[in-house]
Amino acid sequence: MAKKGRVFSGARPTGRQHLGNYLGAIQNYVALQDDYDCVYCIVDVHALTTVETTQDLKQNTAEMVLDWLAAGIRPAETIVFVQSHVPQVMELHTYLSMVTPLGKLTDLPTFKDKVRQQPENVNYGLLGYPVLMAADIVLYKADVVPVGIDQAPHLEFTRETVRSFNYRYNTKALIEPQAKHTEIKKVLGIDGVEKMSKSLNNHIEIAATPEETTARVREMVTDPARMKRTDPGNPDICNVYTMHKIFSPQSDVEMVNVECRRAGIGCVDCKKLLAKNMNAQLEPLRTKRAEFASRPGYVQDVLDDGARRARVIAEQTMQEVRKAIQLP
Ligand code: ADP
Repeated sequence: MAKKGRVFSGARPTGRQHLGNYLGAIQNYVALQDDYDCVYCIVDVHALTTVETTQDLKQNTAEMVLDWLAAGIRPAETIVFVQSHVPQVMELHTYLSMVTPLGKLTDLPTFKDKVRQQPENVNYGLLGYPVLMAADIVLYKADVVPVGIDQAPHLEFTRETVRSFNYRYNTKALIEPQAKHTEIKKVLGIDGVEKMSKSLNNHIEIAATPEETTARVREMVTDPARMKRTDPGNPDICNVYTMHKIFSPQSDVEMVNVECRRAGIGCVDCKKLLAKNMNAQLEPLRTKRAEFASRPGYVQDVLDDGARRARVIAEQTMQEVRKAIQLP
C-alpha cells in the first residue's frame, strides 16, 4: 500500500524504557508505521548536551532499541539508526546555523529551561539544539514529524529555517515538514502525582520481570483519602484505576470501578489484580525482547543496516544542499 509520506522522529538514548515512554511515545511510533515510511533516530549527539558521562551511551542505546523492536518497530521497513552514524547531519547543522538569527535561539522556552536546569553547563550545544534537530528532520526529507506540545516551537523553528534556507539560496532543496500533533497521554509515576520518569525513580520498566512489576505496583499511591480498608475510594483520582483502564480487561475495570467506591475491594487486592493484568499484557513483548537480546549482534545489525539506508537519503540531500549553496 502506498504510504502517505515520511515520518522522522528522534529520541535520546535513555536506556530501558518505562511505561510512560511506551504509552506516550513508542506505541505511536509503532502505529505510524502503517501509514508512513518511518525514520526513527537515537539522537546520541543531542544527548551530549546534557550527559555527564558517555560510558553508558552504547548500552542505553541497545536497551532502548530492544524495547522498540519488542514493541513492534519493524526494522525491515522502518529505518532505525543512531544519529552520529550519519555525520552529514553535522555538516547540515553548520549550514543551517548560517541562516539562523541568534535571537531566535535564545528566545526558545526549551533553551531557557535548560539554562535554569544546568546553569553550570550552558554549552553551545544547548543553544544549537534546535538547529541540529532541524538538520535531522530535513536531512531525511521528512514530510511529517510527530510532536507533543513541548516540541511544537522546535518544529515551527524547523519550518522557518527551511524557508530561510530555500529563500537565501534560491532553492527547493529542503522540504518544510508538517507537525503531526499527537495527543500525549501523560502517564503518572507510582507516586500518582508526577509524570512517570526515570530521573524521579517513579517508573516501571517495560522489561521488568513480573516480580519486579508486582513489587512496583504494590508501591503505587492510591486515593489518599482512603485511609482504611473499610473506607470507600474514588477511582476517578486513583492512578491504579487509570492503569487498570489501560492494562485490564473491561470486566475487571468495571468491577474495580464499582467495588472501590463501596469498599468492596481493598487497595492491596486492586493492585494485585493490576499487576497480574499488566504482566499478562506485557508478557508477549517481554518474550520477544528476551529473544532479540539473546541473538548475538542483532541490535548492532539493525542499527548498521539502518545507518546504511539513512546515509543514502542523507547524501542525496547534501548533494542538493551543497549545489544550492554553490560550494566550490
Ligand atoms: P526525551 O528527552 O527524549 O523527551 P524522555 O525519556 O523524557 O526523553 O521521553 C521520551 C519520550 O517518551 C517522549 O516522547 C516523551 O513525551 C515520552 N514520555 C516520557 N515520559 C512520559 C510519561 N510519563 N507519559 C507520557 N509520555 C512520556
